[in-house]
Amino acid sequence: MLEKRIKDSAEYKEFTQSLAHGGLSHAYLVLGADATVRALFVKMFASVILCPEKGCGECPVCEKVFSDCHPDVKVYNKDGKFRVHDATMLIEDAYIKGWESETKLYFIDNAETLMPQSQNKLLKIYEEPPKGVVMFLLAGSEGGLLQTVVSRAKKVYLPTFTCKDIYEELLEDGYPHKTAETASALSGARFDKAYLYAQNEDYPKLYDECFDTLLKCKSSRDIPSFTGRAMFGKENLPVTLDILEVILNDVMRLTSASGIPRSSHNRDYDLAEISKGFSPGGVAMALLSLNKARKMLAFYVSAAGIADTILFEILEAKYKWQ
Ligand SMILES: [Zn+2]
Repeated sequence: MLEKRIKDSAEYKEFTQSLAHGGLSHAYLVLGADATVRALFVKMFASVILCPEKGCGECPVCEKVFSDCHPDVKVYNKDGKFRVHDATMLIEDAYIKGWESETKLYFIDNAETLMPQSQNKLLKIYEEPPKGVVMFLLAGSEGGLLQTVVSRAKKVYLPTFTCKDIYEELLEDGYPHKTAETASALSGARFDKAYLYAQNEDYPKLYDECFDTLLKCKSSRDIPSFTGRAMFGKENLPVTLDILEVILNDVMRLTSASGIPRSSHNRDYDLAEISKGFSPGGVAMALLSLNKARKMLAFYVSAAGIADTILFEILEAKYKWQ
């Protein structure tokens, strides 16, 4: 379970330990790019702070928190449309005593999208909050936030995970092996992206086709028999380029023996086969050809022309850079 993975993380333990030492601050800046982890973290924070057992997960308080109906936990700006008027309403609300708790928690997600006027408005309760009010700004990064806001908050970093964690989690969620394999490899080690990829039933097939093409297209004479594949269809090309990039990055990790964990799973044999004859410089050139293909896509070059270019340049990168 993702909740268990978060609980086991150093970041979570650090936060709960600081609470145990009486360290509940009134303003936090929670940083982490993964929206799925952020959303779950909100609930876990809230339950640790409000639950009499410090986050048991079972009492009525925890139940309300986890089903989004605790009256003293408010989450704003999930859709990135928070306006100055919303800030005014939030501040008015913050001065009303809590319904069920002495502590009221306000979470503002996607804080980096807040207009400077909204941030300035919120500074009022960020600097001098009403008694029992705790504000959390959640953001992918600090960019876009006013320095005055950043400097007044206690920073908390969200834990990050590996593609392997995500692969295992998707299997636990009941996704088929192929889906878990594809979505985790493409996720960039983010749960929010992995779940998006896992919804699309076409991706596992494209993923297989990309591996198959890299394995079997061995000389320029082979190219015409591959360019008609579904992966090179116009609507599939953007994601095909992303998949090829993931695979070639893994090939790079293999050829350069970098020790960085790979994105793909259960593909050691295929990767070793694809790597044969590739030098690290050659893989770098092959990766550059994908960028060229993206530019061609933006300039409306035909899908067949792009397919030709990619396959030809990947082969060339292999043989020129021995
Ligand atoms: Zn509880």
